[in-house]
Amino acid sequence: MDKFLAGVDIGNSSTEVAIAKVQGTQLHFVSQYLVKTTGIKGTIDNVKGIRFALTEAAKKAEIHFHDIELIRLNDAVPVIGDLAMDLISETIITESSMIGHNPDTPGGAGLGIGTTILIDQLEKVEKSDKEFIVVVPNPFDYEIVAHLINRAMDQGTAITGAVVQKDDGVLIHNRLNKKIPIVDEVALIEKVPLSKLAAVEVALPGHVIRTLSNPYGLATVFDLDSDQTKQISLVAKALVGNRSAVVIRTPQGEVVERKIEAGKVFLKGSNNQQLSVSINDGAETLMQTYEKLESLIDVQGETGTNVGGMFNGLRQDLSLLTDQSPEEIKISDFLAVDAVIPTSISGSMAGELSMESGVALASMVKTDRIPVERVAAQLKKDTGIPVEVGGIEAEMAIRGALTTPGTGKPIVILDMGGGSTDAAMMTETGKLTSTHLAGAGDMVTMLINSELALENLELAEKIKKNPLGKVVSLFHMQLEDGTTLFSDTPFPPYTFGRVVIREEKELTPISSKASMEKIRDIRRSAKRRVFVTNALRSLKKILPTGNLKHISSVVMLGGSALDFEIPQMITEELGKYGIVAGFANIRGSEGPRNAVATGLVLSSIHKEVLR
Ligand code: ADP
Ligand code: MG
Repeated sequence: MDKFLAGVDIGNSSTEVAIAKVQGTQLHFVSQYLVKTTGIKGTIDNVKGIRFALTEAAKKAEIHFHDIELIRLNDAVPVIGDLAMDLISETIITESSMIGHNPDTPGGAGLGIGTTILIDQLEKVEKSDKEFIVVVPNPFDYEIVAHLINRAMDQGTAITGAVVQKDDGVLIHNRLNKKIPIVDEVALIEKVPLSKLAAVEVALPGHVIRTLSNPYGLATVFDLDSDQTKQISLVAKALVGNRSAVVIRTPQGEVVERKIEAGKVFLKGSNNQQLSVSINDGAETLMQTYEKLESLIDVQGETGTNVGGMFNGLRQDLSLLTDQSPEEIKISDFLAVDAVIPTSISGSMAGELSMESGVALASMVKTDRIPVERVAAQLKKDTGIPVEVGGIEAEMAIRGALTTPGTGKPIVILDMGGGSTDAAMMTETGKLTSTHLAGAGDMVTMLINSELALENLELAEKIKKNPLGKVVSLFHMQLEDGTTLFSDTPFPPYTFGRVVIREEKELTPISSKASMEKIRDIRRSAKRRVFVTNALRSLKKILPTGNLKHISSVVMLGGSALDFEIPQMITEELGKYGIVAGFANIRGSEGPRNAVATGLVLSSIHKEVLR
């Protein structure tokens, strides 16, 4: 009976499989298939997608699923890319203020809701069932503060929390008869609005707040409707990952605008190097600061700011997914590019947008382990077929890439996926270097979506992948390259006068007011900002000298190598260094797809390939 082998590549975006027949000493590839990765790469959720892809590939090869004798999974690199993308800028909030900082030692734990009141006003409070948050400026000593709070509580005044200027949280807390959460080290305490509804939350050491960092938590606390909740979600987002926070509601009518800062980024490098840079300085400064580090160990965002919320949220999501503490999760790379962010003008009547500048950030997270073994075990259990985790991903990709006619060692590959751009080099003697960088196809889609204010990622993805046209009459369309296309059959009425995406069989009109030229510019510049930058960054990293002149050719792989413009942009850029670049044709037939899956099959037996 014939024996079959399957290779499975779980990527951030796609799961690709390849099936080959083993004939004596030779391998004969019979089919391949691709599905969207189900769940986060390296988690049990992947099994569903893998099984589906294998079933479809088996069907295509006209074999039975159970004819597969062995499944080989890639040893997924413990880096996760596409979870971590965001546009960061200053945001304006109205009707609320917040303090989101992480004092070293806040007092107590829990959530307190009440009206803000100055500590020395407590004794003037009349008996009622109102609850209070006390605000304690500097001059008040902790002994006195504790005494005042205890006395007020004894007299029946309900106090549910405190906001303190000095670093006295624990000292006050220890002296209270009834414990309350206390946020301390609030330097600008005079800015805390008084007689307003406020909430104070402190988490136990090693934990993070749960209510004030959740828009629906805030909605519950302040009794908000869905519009107000949408507004306040910016506050929640900036507070993600904090151990303590205060949010204060200023009632409607009193429209005081407050800013949530874009924030600072703290870069930690080897040899105790530590650099910080503000998001407002722009992407170029951010990347230049990054380059000053010998090697990046971790990145932190300033707490209580938009960038802090992004990095903290990422750490939290991944710690839940991988069963590790947030501290074990490190940011191993990031890419910052300048972006234009359309922002709604407050008080506008017709949803007018103003264009503000911000920074788009993609980051890459390194965890100590990606539980691929768990995926393998589950897959084996579900299918009854032996599963083997084999091979370093970069090495498998190179093995696959080498099936491209005309390639040979030494070889350099550039794998442009959805979440990450990976590069690897194998020397003539088989020595391997590789790197994984944040930012790839999904970041391009995000930029297009946001800069055109589409709020529709699917549409943005379509714009990325296809050229544009403008339907000027029943029978003719102006194309983006300036030429005119005449059609024998009339264009559909819904496309008249519109800019359309020219897919192979379909025309999709774009609802944006932007002109064809503008949309094209944004599309092309998004691709350049991400891929040209990352091609150069990644190739420099895998070269011992960092000097691009030392490579002669680059083979491009991955979904984004299918793009109608990206390979050309990279070819042009690398041409400046005398490098020849072209996209792969795996096994002489698959184009830039299926390299890793093919490599996994090939590496199982060191035998010759039959085409
Ligand atoms: P991964 O290895 O990270 O799972 P893939 O190699 O599957 O990723 O690449 C996924 C990316 O490729 C996505 O960003 C997707 O938009 C992009 N992509 C897929 N097909 C095309 C295409 N025809 N043109 C441009 N981009 C494409
Ligand atoms: Mg891939």
